[in-house]
Amino acid sequence: MCRHLAHLGPTPVTLASLVTEPPHSLLVQSYAPADMRGGGTVNADGFGVGWYVRDLLGYGTEDRARTALYRRDDPMWTDASFLDVARAVETTALVAAVRSATVGMPVSTAACAPFRGEAGGATWLFSHNGVVRGWPHSMAELAATLPAVDLLTTEAATDSALLWALVRARISAGKDPADAVAGVVADALAAAPGSRLNLLLSDGAQLVATAVDHALSYRTHPDGGVTIASEPLDDDGAWVPVPDGSLLVARPGSAHDPPAVTVTALSPHAPFPTP
Ligand code: GLN
Repeated sequence: MCRHLAHLGPTPVTLASLVTEPPHSLLVQSYAPADMRGGGTVNADGFGVGWYVRDLLGYGTEDRARTALYRRDDPMWTDASFLDVARAVETTALVAAVRSATVGMPVSTAACAPFRGEAGGATWLFSHNGVVRGWPHSMAELAATLPAVDLLTTEAATDSALLWALVRARISAGKDPADAVAGVVADALAAAPGSRLNLLLSDGAQLVATAVDHALSYRTHPDGGVTIASEPLDDDGAWVPVPDGSLLVARPGSAHDPPAVTVTALSPHAPFPTP
C-alpha cells in the first residue's frame, strides 16, 4: 500500500527534511517500506508532494497560487531533480505520498496523490493509502450521488480519485472537513466492507486523517509543529501510533502552545447522509 505523510507547523521546513532526509523518510519508504500489510512490496509507481507556498511574493491567501504540486509516475529515487529541489523549497504545510498502484488501476501522474482541489473557499490536498474492495462496482451507488461534472473531472480511474471527489463534494456542500472524511469512510466501508481507508486531508491550516486497516503515526515538535506519517520517519520516541479505526484532527501550535491533536474512534456503522 502507498505511504503518505503530512506536516503543519509555525516554522518553515524544507521538503527534504521530511520527504527525503530522515532515516526512514518517504524516499526510503518508496523502496524499503516497513509495514505494507500484504499490499505490495515497494512504492515505485510514482509520488507526489503538495505544499502551501509562503506568502513572500504577496500572493493572495485564498487561491491556488498558494499551493504547488509536484507529481511524477516514476519512483521517487529516480528523480534527481526532485531530490535537489526538495532541499531548496521551504514550507510550513505539506502533504506527500509514494504510490504502489493497486492491481487493475492505472499507473499515471494523475493517479498519484496528493490530489488538489478547491472546496468551501479553501485549497485542499488529499491522499488515500489503501484500497476499496470490489472497486469499481462496489462504489457505483456512492459515485452516483456525485454531480456528473465531478465524476467527469476525476483525475484518474482509481478508488483514491473517487474518494477524493466524494470528500470534496461534501466539503463543497458545507460539511466540516472531519465530518466529510468520516462520512466518506463510513459510507465506503458500508458499500465495500474490508476496504483499507487511510485518508489524509489538509487545507494548510488543519490536518484530518483516518487509520482504517493501515498503519499511521503522528508526532508533535517543540516549535508547535505536527507530523503524521504512515510509518515513523525515525526512531524518535515522540512518535505515537494511531489506533486502527480512528479519526485524527490536528492544528499546529507555537513554541508556547502545543499543537491541538485529537484522536477519536470512527463509528463505521453510523449513517452519514450523502450530499
Ligand atoms: N488504491 C490506490 C491506488 O491504486 C492506493 C494504492 C495504495 O495505497 N497502495 O492508487
